[in-house]
Amino acid sequence: MDSKKIKTRFPPSPTGVLHIGSVRTALFNYLFAKQNGGEFVLRIEDTDTERSKKEFEEDIKNGLAWLGMEWDEFYRQSERVSIYRKYIEKLIEEGKAYESKEEKGERDSVIRLKNPGKEVVFEDIIRGEIKFDTTELGDFVIAKDTEKALYHLAVVIDDFEMDITHVIRGEDHISNTPRQILIQEALGFPVPQYAHMPLILGEDKSKLSKRHGATSVNEYREMGYLPEAVINFVAFLGWNPGTEKEIYTIDELLKDFSLEKIQKSGAVFNIKKLNWINTEHLTQKTTEELGEITSDYMPSKDIDMSLWNKIIKLFVDDKRIEKLSDIEKMLEVGELDYFFNQPKIEASKLNWKNEKDINNTKENLETLVKLLDEMGESDFASENIKNKIWDYTEDRGRGNVLWPFRVALTGLDKSPDPFSISEILGKQKTIERLKNAIDQIK
Ligand code: GLU
Repeated sequence: MDSKKIKTRFPPSPTGVLHIGSVRTALFNYLFAKQNGGEFVLRIEDTDTERSKKEFEEDIKNGLAWLGMEWDEFYRQSERVSIYRKYIEKLIEEGKAYESKEEKGERDSVIRLKNPGKEVVFEDIIRGEIKFDTTELGDFVIAKDTEKALYHLAVVIDDFEMDITHVIRGEDHISNTPRQILIQEALGFPVPQYAHMPLILGEDKSKLSKRHGATSVNEYREMGYLPEAVINFVAFLGWNPGTEKEIYTIDELLKDFSLEKIQKSGAVFNIKKLNWINTEHLTQKTTEELGEITSDYMPSKDIDMSLWNKIIKLFVDDKRIEKLSDIEKMLEVGELDYFFNQPKIEASKLNWKNEKDINNTKENLETLVKLLDEMGESDFASENIKNKIWDYTEDRGRGNVLWPFRVALTGLDKSPDPFSISEILGKQKTIERLKNAIDQIK
């Protein structure tokens, strides 16, 4: 039995910021390695010196760190030139590659692999057997010179030197695989196991691009998506557990993920699903955790932290926050103002739609004052408040009582339920506001 330690790699080219599609590549490699007690390598493929930028490398590393994917080993291809040279020289010495004079073009010679022109067959974990006739590839270029290995050669040498057992990557790389296998054979390297994942598509079924919305991880981070939600969402781009379960922590993914369950057909990127998953992950946070991750959104330093935390918890549990930047918009339109300041109440707003007589509304508000005043400060919690007024509410009709109750507290047509708001405001303020509303009714 092959007892080799499982090792995977994530080999981004630092020619752009970390893309959401690359996160999936990183994640599947990470999950597969870690669930098998193996190792995960981060390899920066920066041989294209013109397009590669340090800032992109930093962005990739920061993104992975934010998502909680730690790498066990780190490499940069630009630092491995002498390793590639050794193998290029070996191939030439053994007559498996040769320097070829070029007629035209940017340089007068390149290094080509002697292609035996055979059929290459490999077993892809996701796609099954794949066959390629490599004759038409001819003697393809593997290096510009001994100092400049090109992509196929560098990848093959690195995968071997780093003991990579599984190459898990996008299906756009399928056509690269036969060339890479020919190089492996020429160098006498073992062929790693391949798993080519389906493409990620936009909702119009074309390849995911900027046109479909944000594609960089940073943009999602800035919009206030949780790293665990991004991981959860990305995991479902081409994989599913075959059950109803859709909300996953990374630990649960480590248990349930399997390469065999990756689908062949394209994976559709649906932002509504990400929003839903993010909302669900937010609801799993405690009041304190929510306070911590949203403290930057606090409109003023004077706001009491525990008040803020409770407000956010209420809106999260009510599923009124899909992503943290929604808080910004809510503050902008004044949706939270009533927690900080007494709202202005218009008497005309207080009547529920079927109620014609404002005096009935007045009586309902007065009864609310009376009932709530009977409660102790320490019992003034949402469920208790609801229980306390429920019989009366049912008797008078829910809308007739709860609508003016809500408007008295918030001045708004839309808000979370008045019980939860009362709890956050506290007994004194709640009663004050009910009385203020009554005063508006002449
Ligand atoms: N550096 C390549 C890319 O960013 C990946 C190479 C590979 O997975 O073999 O597409």
